Amino acid sequence: MNRASGVALSFLLAPLLAFACNDQRASVRNVTPVTRDDEAERRARMVETQIVARGVRDPRVLAAMREVPRHLFVDSSQREQAYGDHPLPIAGNQTISQPFIVALMTELAEITPQEKVLEIGTGSGYQSAVLSRLAKEVYSIEIVPELARESAERLRRLGYTNVTVKEGDGYRGWSEHAPFDGIIVTAAPDRIPQPLLDQLAPGGRMVIPVGSFFQELKVLSKDKNGKITEKDILPVRFVPFTGEIQKTPPAPE
Ligand code: SAH
Repeated sequence: MNRASGVALSFLLAPLLAFACNDQRASVRNVTPVTRDDEAERRARMVETQIVARGVRDPRVLAAMREVPRHLFVDSSQREQAYGDHPLPIAGNQTISQPFIVALMTELAEITPQEKVLEIGTGSGYQSAVLSRLAKEVYSIEIVPELARESAERLRRLGYTNVTVKEGDGYRGWSEHAPFDGIIVTAAPDRIPQPLLDQLAPGGRMVIPVGSFFQELKVLSKDKNGKITEKDILPVRFVPFTGEIQKTPPAPE
């Protein structure tokens, strides 16, 4: 499970109340089926009350969050909950991140339209779909075979043609497609995987939660000369990054 810090939650109430009074439905009959309209409305509200209210401003990120049908990335039994301000369970004991965290990580990655992005931890495919609206190409690796298969199929069915999913351990990245302008890691390792840092292009950004029980969301930026700078953003709670990294001790300093 991952969740924004309690600090973020305290910003929620006031905008929620404000928005509740602002429910203006179009009076003209629309050709779009009502359910679809409702979902778009729920997304617009999610963006205002959970995402804009907490300071995410990038218009391209907000447009992607308004557009991608989050309810189609969760199990049908969870659909009512899909636009709630929390993570949701998906298959294989994993979770789809809280909408605010998806938006924040996407904004922090500063993706531009010609760029190539790597995601580690495809899960439901939701974050990949959001990234696909901002980048030229998205590559995503998922370690749980069932999730890799289902998310690849879902993304294909929904028409996200610039996303490629593969099953495997993301620890070593995806060298055939490297370097990447952005890397988003959606499971928490206890240290930064060096192979991922190596696959970051000069000028690239990696957004990653690091830690075990206590985790910090970090942004690592690589400059033109390959120098890395690291910035702490916010305490978070993600599922663990499994596979090879859990079996190998940290390299000596
Ligand atoms: N981005 C996802 C959220 C996924 S939760 C979404 O939008 O739905 C984190 C995912 O990381 C889980 O599906 C988990 O199986 C996967 N994961 C954990 N360790 C991994 C590893 N070493 N390589 C690839 N995927 C990993």
